[in-house]
Formats: sequence, structure tokens, C-alpha cells
Amino acid sequence: DEPLSSRDPEIWGAIQKELGRQQNEIELIASENIVSQAVLEAQGSVMTNKYAEGYPGRRYYGGCQYVDIAENLAIERACELFECQFANVQPNSGSQANQGVFTALLQPGDTILGMSLDAGGHLTHGAKPNQSGKWFNAVQYGVRRQDNLPDYDQIAALAEEHKPKMIIAGGSAIPRILDFAKFREIADSVGAYLLVDMAHFAGLVAAGLYPSPFPHAHVATTTTHKTLRGPRGGMILTNDEAISKKVNSAIFPGIQGGPLMHVIAAKAVAFGEALQPGFRTYQEQVVRNAQALADQLMKGGLDIVTGGTDSHVMLVDLRPKSVTGADTEKALGRAHITCNKNGIPFDPEKPTVTSGIRLGSPAATTRGFGEPEFRQIADWIVEVVDGLAANGAEGNAAVEEKVRAEVEALCGRFPIYTAP
Ligand code: PLP
Repeated sequence: DEPLSSRDPEIWGAIQKELGRQQNEIELIASENIVSQAVLEAQGSVMTNKYAEGYPGRRYYGGCQYVDIAENLAIERACELFECQFANVQPNSGSQANQGVFTALLQPGDTILGMSLDAGGHLTHGAKPNQSGKWFNAVQYGVRRQDNLPDYDQIAALAEEHKPKMIIAGGSAIPRILDFAKFREIADSVGAYLLVDMAHFAGLVAAGLYPSPFPHAHVATTTTHKTLRGPRGGMILTNDEAISKKVNSAIFPGIQGGPLMHVIAAKAVAFGEALQPGFRTYQEQVVRNAQALADQLMKGGLDIVTGGTDSHVMLVDLRPKSVTGADTEKALGRAHITCNKNGIPFDPEKPTVTSGIRLGSPAATTRGFGEPEFRQIADWIVEVVDGLAANGAEGNAAVEEKVRAEVEALCGRFPIYTAP
């Protein structure tokens, strides 16, 4: 019963430092969020001890009566949240959710059609280094050069040419709303399944601020830890009973063993939170904050890919200031603003350098920032970027130090995880 601090001071120390980083720095990574104390508590619970291969009521182990309560609640709440019939809450991650769907509905060598990584898609949508790009004949679509929006004509033409068995909509850096009806029309024209991977915008869908993948998608996947603000994990949703049966067999015993019951309990808690009216208010603020950030960055002389955002995420095109994504990520890090370098569509730079950064509002909105704070953050970003533009990769140390102090003062006014 020894506390972590004395049992393992090295790990305890790392966790304390990570807590301090989250408390005192501004998190703008679009795929991250800050979970509630209740979600943390469920995830840190004794349910981690339990083997529960199988599904509620149909387990391969005894003693599952209480973890069944957690999994049933997670399933019920997920279905209510996304207005669908079937949910598999066992995928350990978004990647495994997608892999589960592929295992359920595809054979190795089948053709899939997904958005390319450089246009905003995800690795698991058929990128070469990923299993999805190795085991399937992965064809990739992009965005239009003139406006960086998905090119539905290209998608339709590629579908016609390659006759994919599955078309994937969704991605990791798509600021604008996708047309799921259009995707389904294209999928139907070639007899393909439509998979919507809503990992990034699931929270917005749950709040009714982004169109639901249903009824258009045959199946939808998501992570649970981005806008949805739950524990790190994945989930698969569908309205088709036959697909749901295949998906269940694909997750277990297809690709996973014992489900992470402590994480599933935490998913249930997060879905319960998302069903509260306050969640919609939160998501409305997420979108308003992202739009304020984008607007103020443009006023500061930066470009935003597609000219803004309809969601929680934006891609900043740094080329007007002639700085790179890699240098900007580092300089902002020195100023205690965390983000990631990100290729922009048709990026002339290598993926390790990039011409862009990806910014998102979900985490900082959770800590209570509103539009004034996000406009302030934009001004700080512009100051730091101008320091890079004037001095090269070194940046302007004095500016970065000044911004860092101001960031810490702001974070102090919006504390997180203050409970002992
Ligand atoms: N799908 C999309 C669209 C994502 O953005 C991500 C994560 O970045 C994933 C899937 C994979 O999720 P995970 O990192 O949990 O495997």
C-alpha cells in the first residue's frame, strides 16, 4: 500500500512534472484534451485488474459482473450520444478501431480509398508505412489546389477507376465540414462500404455542432480522447446489425485480447459527461475559440488553410513569414505554448520540416479560456513567429521569455487539477 511517491519516485517525479507542464503551459495540440477528475479516477481504478475477454454477459472469465455494468453503460451512453444502434467500446485506440473495421469487412489485398496524410488524412487510412497501406491496395485522395477542400470529383473518379471495397472519410487535419451524404453517394456508386473516422470531431458531433456520420456511414470509428474528452481509447459505431456482429468478432478475438476495463469505465464516465447540457456549451465555445484564434492569426499576417475553420482545428500556413513548422513548434515550446508542426496541402517542405503548424482549441477551452484568451494566444504566437522571421531558428529569446511569463500568468488564472 506504499504510495507511488515512495514506491517509485522516478515515475512519480515524471508524473508530477507532466502535471506541472499541463497546468502551466498552453495546450494547443488539436488531438488532445483535459479529462475530468472523475474520468481520471475511473481510469486509475481496480478495474485494471480484471480479465474480461468477450462481451457483457458472454465472457470467457468469471467475476465479470461489475465490469459488465461499466461496459453496458459505456455502450448505452455511446449509442445515445451518437444516436446509433450498436457500439463496440473495446478498441484500445483509434488505430485499433480502424484495424477492427478493416478486419471485419475487408480481406488482405482489397482496395481502400482514403485521404492522404499530406492532405489531412490519418496514417491508418492507407498511408504506406501503416499496416493499412501494406496489407491493402490503398488508393489515396487529396484536396483541391484552388481551395484546399476535399475534391469530391477526384474521389468519385478514383472510386470509379479503382472500385474500392471501402471508402474512408475523416482525418486529422481537416478544418472544414465534410459532406457525408456525398461520400455515401460515391460509395454506393461502386458498392463500397463508407467508413467515417470521426476521431477528431466526435465531440462536435455529440453536441450537434457537426453533421453526424449517420445515416450515411455504414460504420463510424472514433477515438475517445480528443474533442470527446474521454480517456485515451477507441470505439466503433454502426446501425447495421450484421456489421456490428462482424466488428465484435474482429475486435475480440480478431485483433485484441482482454479489454481495458478501467479505460472502458472511464469511457462510460466521459460519455455520461458528454450527455450533460454543459457539453454542448463547451463544444460551442471550442468552435468559437478556434475561429477567434484563426481570425487573430490572420490579422497578424499568417495564413490559415481554407481561410478559417468550422471546427476545433486549423492549419496555419507559415509561409507568409518564411519560417518552418519545425522551428515554430520548437520556439512556441520555449514560450510554453505546445503545438505540432504539420504539413500543409502541397507542402514544399519535407514532413520533418513542414510549412505549417496544426492548432486546436479543445484542451485550452476545457480549462476555461474564451475568445479574449484565444486572441491573446494568437498575438503571442505571432510575436514568437516574428522573432523567428527576424533571427532564424534561434528565435528571439527575450520575446520568448516574455511570452512564457505571460503564458504562465494566464494559466495561473485558469487552474486545472487543483484537487489534492
Ligand atoms: N483516426 C484519426 C482521424 C486520428 O486523428 C487518430 C489519431 O490521431 C487516429 C485515428 C488514431 O488514434 P490513436 O492515436 O488512438 O491510435
